Order: sequence, then C-alpha cells, then structure tokens
Amino acid sequence: MGRTFLTVAVSALFLVGCASQQPSKRTSAKSFSPTSATLSAAAASTMRVHFINVGQGDATLIEFPCAAMLVDAGGETSHDVNSGALLMAYLEAFFDRRKDLNRTLALFVLTHPHKDHTLNVPMVLSRYKIRNALDNGLRKGSGRFGQVALQTKAKQDASMQYRAVRLSQVPNKTGLTGPIIDPIACNRIDPRISVLWGQIDKINSPFPKIAKEPNNHSLVLRIEFGKATVLLTGDLEHNAIPELLKKYSGTDALRAMAFQAGHHGSANGITTKLANAVSPSLTVISMGPPLARAQGRVFNAWDFGHPRRSHVSLLAKAMSSEKSIDRKGEKGVLVCVANGQRKFVMRRVKKPIYATGWDGNVVATFRSNGSIKVTTQFRKPTVGRLCRSGIS
Ligand SMILES: [Zn+2]
Repeated sequence: MGRTFLTVAVSALFLVGCASQQPSKRTSAKSFSPTSATLSAAAASTMRVHFINVGQGDATLIEFPCAAMLVDAGGETSHDVNSGALLMAYLEAFFDRRKDLNRTLALFVLTHPHKDHTLNVPMVLSRYKIRNALDNGLRKGSGRFGQVALQTKAKQDASMQYRAVRLSQVPNKTGLTGPIIDPIACNRIDPRISVLWGQIDKINSPFPKIAKEPNNHSLVLRIEFGKATVLLTGDLEHNAIPELLKKYSGTDALRAMAFQAGHHGSANGITTKLANAVSPSLTVISMGPPLARAQGRVFNAWDFGHPRRSHVSLLAKAMSSEKSIDRKGEKGVLVCVANGQRKFVMRRVKKPIYATGWDGNVVATFRSNGSIKVTTQFRKPTVGRLCRSGIS
C-alpha cells in the first residue's frame, strides 16, 4: 500500500485537460466494486465531495464510482438547526440515488471526539452498514459518546473493521494507509486514501504542550482520485500545524486541489505556511450560520466567530485562481465573516471559497483529469441580519 504522492502542480492549464491517470489496480480482500457494469465513463471517473450543512460542525460525504465514505457526523442542535434531521435527509436521498451502494459506507472516519463531529454517529450506525471505521482512539471529549459508540459497534459487529490511528504509526513523508484506511478499489480510477496525522502519544510525547489540546489529535486525511486531491485537517490547531508541515517537508503530501478549511475557519485553524503548502483551487468551510437568535448558545458559529476574517483572507491569498469555480468573477459575492466572537462583518469573496454556513450544502464534483465543478444548495450566499448590521 506504499505510495508516492502525485506531484500536483495546480494551475489553470493543469485543470483544463490533462489525460486521466490510470493508477494500477490493487487487490484487496475488502475491495468494493460497482454492481452495475454499465457505469458511464463520466460516472466512472467522477468523485463528489458533499460538504453537508449540519450547522456548526462537520459531516463530509465522499462519493466514488463504486463506494462512499463519511468523515464525521457532527452538527448543531439548536433552535435554528436540527443537524440530525438534516444529515439523515441528506444521506437517505444519497442512498436512494446510489442504490448500488446498498446503504453501505465503505469507510466511516471520525477525526476527533468532539460533538460537532460525532453528535449524529448513533443515527448513522443505526441506519447504515459500516464496513471499515477509523478514529484517533480517544474516549474523552464532548463527543465521546459518538466515538465510543463507534468503537463498541466495531467490537460487536464481526463484519466491521476498525483501526485507531496514532501519530507514532504514521510514517513521515508518505502518511499511513492500509486495508482499513483505504478499503476502496473502484475499477477504473482507484481512490487512494491516507492518514497524515493521528493521536499524539501522551507518554514520551514528542510535543507535550501540543498534545494537551484535544483538537491537535485530529486525524488528517488525504484523498487522491486520479489527478483530483482533497485534504481535510479536522480541527488541528496552529501549534500542531508546524509539526504537520515538518513531517511532510520536501513532499507534496499537503498540496491539494480542494481543502476543507481547518477548524471550521477558526483563527487558529490555519497558518500562512499551511495555506501556501496546500495552495488549493477550492476551499470549503464547514460551519453554522451566524443567526441573531443563536446568541448565547454554545457550539454555534455566532459564539465562536466562524469563519474568521483572517482565516478567509489568508486562504484567499494562498489560493490559485480557477475561473471555472470562482465566485462571480471580479464582482465576487458578499458573505459574512467574523472579526471576533459575536462580531460579524460583510466581506466580498472572489476566490472559490464556499461555506456551509453561507451556501447550505456544497457539492464539489471532481473529474479524474482534475476539473472541478461546485454546486450549492442556496442560489446566493446568506448573510443574515447581524452581519448586515455590522458592514465594514
Ligand atoms: Zn469542530
């Protein structure tokens, strides 16, 4: 399962039409194949990443020609958002469309046990078949109930494989893969899944201070599909990010066509060096809507101040321009960003930065030749009264 990361030069030229790469096929006892032999050439070379709107939190469904994986099943439950209902409706519609997948997730990943990432794990476990599961092995945190439920299910269900990933097991430069981390082998394009970061060992920890922050034990995932690449850093924070950069220095492991903004677009979820190392063509932020009546509640975008203006600006500077996925060209679109907790202002975004809190569900469709198309649930980004009142 060893691999060499693709040297991905993200440029407009690259994105408009290199020949599809045909990775060599792998054999695996747990491989998944499409039930229909009539998949069109387009469908067989398409990966869709569904950034599902669950309010403040993450739930990211990755759809391949022959399988699906889910990264986190979190969300907000408040007066404004019922993330369980939103996630369930989305997954039901998905499996209704993809009947060939038989309500099965080939892989279910929890980045870390906080409830904005695990709140709806019991619902997912009760409704869908899980073949493989990954987490960071911890059993503490606001969302421990979801992570422990996953670990318990894996113990009871003989058909489900589980692996806890520790950072000490993750090789420098290449990341970690294997039959549980990457159980998906589609016929035409074989997705390649690897974990770049995991639970930091607390005994003899190489970075004891960094290990004190639970977010810094987040699994970091890299997914390659032909020339398309996606990087998800969970809620990894700024003091762990330099160690991540050091671990993969001199490689293209962190370079990705699409990036799920770290820590919901929080001020501490990105650094200039990481933004430059990823240099994405597309960024999607998973966070909740800044709503007036959410004031005073916990675990919502309003109280946290997500996404921070500094994070969005830093990403915009580091992103490569790609006209096919920009936001209304030179004009851009007005969105709501935070200058601090409960302090929102409007900002015009021209680069292809999308967010579940602005756009509802965001679906990025990648062809294996590297082209990207983005569709959003809402026709225009929502900005909200609070944001309007604070225009700067
Ligand atoms: Zn989070």
